[in-house]
Amino acid sequence: MVVVLDTVGKVPARHPEKAHRPDQPAAKKPDWIRVKAPVSRGYGETRAIVRQNGLHTVCEEAGCPNIGECWEKKHATFMIMGDTCTRACAFCNVKTGLPGALDPAEPEHVAEATAKLGLAHVVVTSVDRDDLADGGAGHFAATIRAIRVRCPSTTIEVLTPDFLRKDGAFDVVVAARPDVFNHNLETVPSRYLMVRPGARYFHSIRLLQRVKELDPRMFTKSGIMVGLGEERNEVLQVMDDLRSANVDFLTIGQYLQPTRKHHAVIRYVPPDEFKALETIAYAKGFLMVAASPLTRSSHHAGDDFARLKAARAGA
Ligand code: SF4
Repeated sequence: MVVVLDTVGKVPARHPEKAHRPDQPAAKKPDWIRVKAPVSRGYGETRAIVRQNGLHTVCEEAGCPNIGECWEKKHATFMIMGDTCTRACAFCNVKTGLPGALDPAEPEHVAEATAKLGLAHVVVTSVDRDDLADGGAGHFAATIRAIRVRCPSTTIEVLTPDFLRKDGAFDVVVAARPDVFNHNLETVPSRYLMVRPGARYFHSIRLLQRVKELDPRMFTKSGIMVGLGEERNEVLQVMDDLRSANVDFLTIGQYLQPTRKHHAVIRYVPPDEFKALETIAYAKGFLMVAASPLTRSSHHAGDDFARLKAARAGA
């Protein structure tokens, strides 16, 4: 399929590939999806630091429901390599299209913002940059190095794309020694074609496995959303697949539909089902599990990293 971007005289659509799709049903949110309004002083200060450094955050671009809570505590997750993604996943609110050139000063700006926010643990993610020869792996590594120099006591978690399966790309990120390497599976394999069509489930599992092979001490992490039409047994199979790849930390959260053009919420999973999944995941051997309706990859990432280290030390 060819997508023509006609931007003359008008603001380009945020999701040009979805603009002509039929509207999807929008299910009413249940009572247990309650979030804090983004109005606090801390929220304003975080926003100012992000803006001053010309950065993007996944908190804003993905429309994360936890932004009021996280930004009040100055916990922002940086999204590097621009605000425009080369993929068009059915669940994601990040803008899609043709991105601009990389900003070579961005790693330094991320390090500067990390210092100003006083982050003990920073999470860095990115848009997919399938247009780049290395998928953006070198830029990830440069960002890790810049944070290490500027904030030597800050621990670093990366949440990476699959680098379009480009040879050796994630090895470059592993070599820069983040403390946590996260790569999300997002959903069960049977839903990939509808939810994450540009990715391959087996490759994502293999990527996580390879990270652990390259550096067995590095913590690995992955996450899925539920409510996208998956079966419970499929979720349990994903847990087994992740454990086969020696993944340490699993996150499970409720999918929320950003707009009517995105994938519909097939089901709101009640909190007691998340609790049951958490119990099963621990029984399957994960060091850490976070499972709740509002769990997101980077939610409480600093506190969870401390618990992760303690769990390994006590294992
Ligand atoms: S959960 Fe993550 S993405 Fe959402 S607001 Fe918090 S830090 Fe940002």
